[in-house]
Amino acid sequence: MEKVIAVAASLSVFITWEALRPFFAFGRGHWYRAASNAFVGVTNTVLGRLLFAWVYARVFAAFTTGRVGLLGLFDMPPWAGIALTLLLLDLWSYWWHRFNHTVPFLWRFHRAHHTDTEMGATSAYRFHPVEIIFSSVLRLPLILLLGLKPEGLVLYETILTVSVAFHHANIGLGPRADAMVRSIIVSPVMHKLHHSDKPGEFSSNYSSILSVWDRIFGTWTETEHPEGIRLGLAIYRDNWWQGYRGIMLTPFRGSASLPAKANKADS
Ligand SMILES: [Zn+2]
Ligand SMILES: [Zn+2]
Repeated sequence: MEKVIAVAASLSVFITWEALRPFFAFGRGHWYRAASNAFVGVTNTVLGRLLFAWVYARVFAAFTTGRVGLLGLFDMPPWAGIALTLLLLDLWSYWWHRFNHTVPFLWRFHRAHHTDTEMGATSAYRFHPVEIIFSSVLRLPLILLLGLKPEGLVLYETILTVSVAFHHANIGLGPRADAMVRSIIVSPVMHKLHHSDKPGEFSSNYSSILSVWDRIFGTWTETEHPEGIRLGLAIYRDNWWQGYRGIMLTPFRGSASLPAKANKADS
């Protein structure tokens, strides 16, 4: 329920904000790609409910009550267990995103997120269902191994929902405010660079909530001129890739070349 409220509230706020004061002027195909993104999001929600809601509930009921996993080895108050769960999940999100850019097979699916030629709050939902299935399956052993807390997982998902809508929204905070925000969490400019069509830029800024991971692992980039960023991927600029079918078929058309190679070849 928390996640439903987070989705509805964040979409309402950021869609209104970007309609009133967009950072980049929206193009003519804006509503077409926004509707496609939203429809992909609905597909993922239905799939998630059908495939994983029951499995996750059973796993938590069976294995995560009492002291289990790595966190179970330490005596700590409940709030510390939840705080560590949030940190570890955010660290995992960073590496999972990075793997999606560095493993050719995973990039096939993740590039459907990067073919968006505009960014907006609905881009937060443009993930290929296969990527969602992989990430949901891989997170299960992680949860068990580390003994992550179910309350922490729900809280993380809720914060992530708002964070992802915020940094994908087509909004500008102004240079100083954006710099302050990105010193702690991923800001709109920080994530716009991740959606740039320049290999050096989209192979950076992988963080999901806390921005510190990019600093720690050496993938942080900044720009003084976010208005000059060209969004999307060079070889998928045709409008066909913005439709529901185009998004779903993106992994199966073209080679599994990693992004840097694909774009260098094209430019
Ligand atoms: Zn990415
Ligand atoms: Zn993104």
